[in-house]
Amino acid sequence: MEPLRGGSIINNIPPEVEKLLSEYPEKRSLVEWCFRWLYDMPEVSVILSGTSAIEQLKDNLRVFAVSQPNVMSEEDMELIHTIQKIYESKANIACTECKYCMPCPQGLDIPNLFKLYNQYQLFNKPMNDSLIYQRSRMVCADQCINCGHCKRHCPQQLEIPDLMKIVHRELMRH
Ligand code: SF4
Ligand code: SF4
Repeated sequence: MEPLRGGSIINNIPPEVEKLLSEYPEKRSLVEWCFRWLYDMPEVSVILSGTSAIEQLKDNLRVFAVSQPNVMSEEDMELIHTIQKIYESKANIACTECKYCMPCPQGLDIPNLFKLYNQYQLFNKPMNDSLIYQRSRMVCADQCINCGHCKRHCPQQLEIPDLMKIVHRELMRH
């Protein structure tokens, strides 16, 4: 389910990724690569892909018809790993979600706030991550009172109170 992360993976594709795809000997769209990568796994038997146009449905069916376990070559997997690294390099708060910083006396869900922010950066600032932040019941990052409790426990030595200001500013953009 959500094989393209609601379309985030294929919207606003980083130029470095576009270049890699265009230079690869076999010309495939990122959508096709995503589906092939999933079908390559023997444990995946069905992909639930939402479409909004008949052309997309036809294209999905074309890809699904020729995809099967072990469809990806070693070179194909290398391409995917390179693309993965490009996307990951855009997620810039090195939180490992260990939760040692929790609980926050203000009720901030620190790892989840960082996770949301990283996703937002990773997929070129999609509006839906901003809206999740603004409309969810999570305590917003601007409620941080800089008590320093979290910082003392973070093995990554993240400057959490300062980062909270950035998280809030960025996720309030839309
Ligand atoms: S510094 Fe901010 S985020 Fe950290 S524990 Fe205190 S209030 Fe929570
Ligand atoms: S302690 Fe640091 S690395 Fe661990 S969850 Fe909290 S912010 Fe992230």
